[in-house]
Amino acid sequence: RTGSDEPEDPPASKKMIGDVGVVVEHYNSRPDVGVVQRQESPIIGLKSFNNWVKSVLITRFAHPVLQKSPSAGYGGRGGRGKVLDMGCGKGGDMTKWAKARIREILCVDIADVSVDQARGRYESMNSRFDASFAALDCYTEPLGKAFSPAKLSSPVDVVSMQFCMHYAFESVQKARCMLDNVSRYLRSGGVFIGTIPNAEVLMSSLDAIPPDAEDLTFGNSVYKIKFEQRDPKPMFGHKYWFFLQDAVDDVPEYVVHWDNFVQMAAEYGLYPTYKEEFHTVFQEHQDIPEFKNLMVRMKVVDANGESAIDEDQWEAANIYIAFAFEKR
Ligand code: SAM
Repeated sequence: RTGSDEPEDPPASKKMIGDVGVVVEHYNSRPDVGVVQRQESPIIGLKSFNNWVKSVLITRFAHPVLQKSPSAGYGGRGGRGKVLDMGCGKGGDMTKWAKARIREILCVDIADVSVDQARGRYESMNSRFDASFAALDCYTEPLGKAFSPAKLSSPVDVVSMQFCMHYAFESVQKARCMLDNVSRYLRSGGVFIGTIPNAEVLMSSLDAIPPDAEDLTFGNSVYKIKFEQRDPKPMFGHKYWFFLQDAVDDVPEYVVHWDNFVQMAAEYGLYPTYKEEFHTVFQEHQDIPEFKNLMVRMKVVDANGESAIDEDQWEAANIYIAFAFEKR
């Protein structure tokens, strides 16, 4: 710039590219309800089940890698391994990471209010691990802008992206930036785990809408998905509006076409080792004593094995898949 009275550009971190402003506004404005009020949610069964799936994913794929962390036992606090929680939200997985007995976690999310709530949750836990928090658009900015070089000097063993990676598929640039942030600090042999909407279910539900219908909405009493167009089905920016009762109020999201994602991830040294629908995650783990007991503790089922999830919630659960990738 030459003229000193011209308005300055906002700092890069404050520029909202694409639909992200709506996403930030939505997550920032959702209240952080306490444990007691949480139990009153009309979809508490589904929320508990989603949490159980995340616990299974973390236990099955992150724990072994954390135990083998080259940094295990070092770092002053005796814990094992380092985690990057990208799109951490209000820190809903903090207890899961505490149970993994980690040494350190880096938590980052674009919604600054949520990040503050995540920090508050960590501080109230009196944890034995170190945690750093930062607000950053992880799909347009490098992680180096959020954390100091010292924080990023040792590699992470696990990157976790829960219910958030699909927002990066708004554009090829955002998806690449996200994958660069995932891969750059992940050690070889480290794991990248996540949960995203199930493109196959989304596409088959869209295709099942009668050809002459103008409204491209499907769902049930718990969730609604509205596409703006039937075709084309682009690999990036394939947008729909998502509503989930008591959780998400019509937020723009993007389909993650799996093969496209896998192909791109390979360019960042990331190779898939697991991909299952949530219903299958349940079937695979429901009879394993550790996870069966966890279902009772997490109130997915009661002590008599009675499910807390009704039919519509169960259908909504399967619009997601869980995945794991290995860094090579
Ligand atoms: N991972 C948390 C969990 O499982 O409880 C939060 C999930 S919430 C459904 C989705 C999160 O993705 C929100 O906190 C949102 O702010 C975050 N997110 C969306 N776009 C993002 C971006 N560009 N960079 C970082 N975080 C983003």
